[in-house]
Amino acid sequence: MGTEKKRIVDTFVSLAGIDGVSYRERKVADYLIGLWSDIRVTLTEDDSAKKIGGDTGNLYGYIEGTGKRKADTPILFCGHMDTVEPGINKKIIVHDDGRITSDGTTVLGADDRAALSTIYEAYREIKESGADHPPIELLFTVAEETYTVGASAFDYSVIKSRNAFVPDCSGEFGKYSSQEPTLIYFEIEVNGRAAHAGFEPENGINAIAVAASAISKIKQGWVNDHTSLNFGTINGGTVSNAVPANVVIKGEIRSAIHEDALLAFTYIRDIFTKEADSAGADVMFKSDVRLHAYRIIESDQSYSTLSLYKKALKKQGEELHSKKSFGGSDNNVLVRNGIDGICIFNPMHDIHTVSEYTTIPELVKMTELIKTLMLNNI
Ligand SMILES: [Zn+2]
Repeated sequence: MGTEKKRIVDTFVSLAGIDGVSYRERKVADYLIGLWSDIRVTLTEDDSAKKIGGDTGNLYGYIEGTGKRKADTPILFCGHMDTVEPGINKKIIVHDDGRITSDGTTVLGADDRAALSTIYEAYREIKESGADHPPIELLFTVAEETYTVGASAFDYSVIKSRNAFVPDCSGEFGKYSSQEPTLIYFEIEVNGRAAHAGFEPENGINAIAVAASAISKIKQGWVNDHTSLNFGTINGGTVSNAVPANVVIKGEIRSAIHEDALLAFTYIRDIFTKEADSAGADVMFKSDVRLHAYRIIESDQSYSTLSLYKKALKKQGEELHSKKSFGGSDNNVLVRNGIDGICIFNPMHDIHTVSEYTTIPELVKMTELIKTLMLNNI
């Protein structure tokens, strides 16, 4: 293995091997602070930990531009420190064929440690080469996997960049998300009236029946070609011989168009309200917009980050591939805060499963691509 290849593998294996599920990223953050300080970059932690109830805040770093590139416009690189579960007691295995996996009991966490590793190695190589580079901004977030809670708590007034790269998109090399959805989480509580089911059922108002009737009238799954709706859990009633007075339903709506997600929620509200009214029950709604949709139009030149990505890929002899994502990433939050960000390829496959893997050739290729993006002189 060449030195640079060995370094990216070592960095990745070290970073991926640190446990850091959402809200418990302390060890990952401390490791990163140390790693970057070795190459004289200071990462500062914001106060998100207490805001979101975790043990770690988001890390931010600003690297001054050098030489002739000192006054260039800065570019932001963003990755998340948390992983999904199972993510405790991780053991990383480098296989002879170049694949890197966990031991099969946890996720690998290439999502998103591969991004944290390649961003680090790319900058380290630039620094060692002595090449002039523009200012580089770094943002390493917590709790991305729980609907971008960490990124949402960050204060964007500190960000100087207009362009941002968020390597957090799975698939093939050169991928980017051309759209990410709005996601609305909701809870519906129906309150009827309890009564003995055998002695006086006529005095009860069956909350389960009200909910069932409403749900049966609502289209689920794909509501249209870009909006999905799901009732995920339902909990209600206490015993078999009482008319159930209460039921709580939890679900979500995703849509590529923000307004359509709001409309779908209005539709749910209307039907539940109507069903509850006609049965004499009460209904309460809670909802939370966890992600806000955005779209990137390839033909529109104002999306300058996309053209930078496209040019960097071309330089490496690679092509751009777009993907309509129904996932969401920290980039939803960056775009919402006026930054021209794109969620780009990150070497990770079968994510959110214990079979997750990355490969050495992809880690090497990605480090090279990020170097090109950081130098921004294509
Ligand atoms: Zn991710």
